[in-house]
Amino acid sequence: MRDLLVLTALRVEEHALRLPAGTRVLRSGMGPERARIAAARGLAVDARGVAIAGLCAAVSPALRAGDVVLASELRRDGADPVAVPGSAMLAAALRRRGLRVQIGPMYSLDHVAGPKERAALQDEGVIAVDMESAWFADAAGGRPLVVLRVVVETSARRLADPRTLGASLRALRSLRRASRVLAEWSASFAPRRVLLAGPRSFCAGVERAIDVVELALEQRGAPVYVRKQIVHNEHVVADLERRGAVFVEELDEVPEGATVVFSAHGVSPAVKSEATGRRLSVIDATCPLVNKVHAEARRFAADGHTVFLVGHDGHEEVEGTYGEAPEAITIVETLADVEQVDAIDPARVSFLTQTTLAVDETNEIVDALRERFPLLRGPRSDDICYATTNRQQAVRAVAQAADTVLVVGSQTSSNSRRLVEVAEREGTRAYLIDDESDVDLAWLTGAATIGLTAGASAPESLVRGVIDAIGSLGQVEVEERTTTTESIQFRVPKEVLAP
Ligand code: SF4
Repeated sequence: MRDLLVLTALRVEEHALRLPAGTRVLRSGMGPERARIAAARGLAVDARGVAIAGLCAAVSPALRAGDVVLASELRRDGADPVAVPGSAMLAAALRRRGLRVQIGPMYSLDHVAGPKERAALQDEGVIAVDMESAWFADAAGGRPLVVLRVVVETSARRLADPRTLGASLRALRSLRRASRVLAEWSASFAPRRVLLAGPRSFCAGVERAIDVVELALEQRGAPVYVRKQIVHNEHVVADLERRGAVFVEELDEVPEGATVVFSAHGVSPAVKSEATGRRLSVIDATCPLVNKVHAEARRFAADGHTVFLVGHDGHEEVEGTYGEAPEAITIVETLADVEQVDAIDPARVSFLTQTTLAVDETNEIVDALRERFPLLRGPRSDDICYATTNRQQAVRAVAQAADTVLVVGSQTSSNSRRLVEVAEREGTRAYLIDDESDVDLAWLTGAATIGLTAGASAPESLVRGVIDAIGSLGQVEVEERTTTTESIQFRVPKEVLAP
């Protein structure tokens, strides 16, 4: 069996391609009829995956000659669209090679599209057109499929334009470079098992915080200002921005009298006073479990304790808790810090922790603190919240049975980063990804079982996107490994409660 079947239309395109050894190439000639015949022949070729490669004309004005287009979907008149999942992973591989890439729907026509037709297609979200791809796609027959084309004609130029010759050379050079990535793509074909960690994705505090911004937008209209990222996830923030939320770093960026939401991570009393001073209408989306830590900080400080706050210096949550009693609190990040810290009265010492730390590591630090200060007191119940603990337990379970673990979450998300560390502690390779476009095909090569989870701030829809992307490389069997179930919900603050 061959790894790869490549369908292309023109001899010049075939010559430009640099393909892995043993690839079967079918060249059809131009247009739908020839493409249809080639697809029928391709269906009979014993190959593990199918690539459609060649040149195209841009519809999106953002595309330049030489840009690579990967189809997310193929459309043509009189047929259902064909989804092409997995393009995002290939796009990442192309970008790592320095190529400009855009992913989007492509349309195949039986004629050369004129300017008016392209404008109409642009309105439908189409980014490029050609005359074969949608017919070629019939050759896939359920096998992995990718459509990789390079722009030869931009939306502003016609083929008759003399400058198109230069564009053709640029496009063919780019096609040559881009086609080399097909070797990496075909090496990652395999059936796989995905072990889904449960619980994963949104916790009650994150759901509440997002609900708060959505309700504020609904009730008060845009713009609604949000101090810091409402939760640490790029997709969530971008989505709320599109709907009218304006994210600011500090309150001086908020116009006087406007509505401002405090993020799930909490704020210090100084920030609250500043908001009052500027007559801002505040809606506090601080997670109730973070508020609990703030209350403990105030209580211990009022009792004259030195409070060791175990957490990451500079993290918003730590800044907020620290601000409750800066004169009493010392931040402890590592075991080494424990050796350096001091207490005014060793009989009055206590500790608190950030809610999103790694449970094992934190226990080690607390044990070390207790060794130095035997009278150390702790919070009434664990500060590391239920969602953090549950997600760490769940990822540990899948990591033990997986070759590779993928954690969906942003770099800024502390709890997501801890999930990567917990998986690594089990001896499994683990990677933090914002979405499927961050997956390096090399991570999947040779990995038969993929553990998959998402941090407490990452939407479940992104997990589904990753499963689809893995499924684009071969059959995928999904198995959920649930270590516990969650039912906690938090009420939204009164400011956004329906009357
Ligand atoms: S991770 Fe825990 S503390 Fe943080 S928002 Fe979620 S429930 Fe609240």
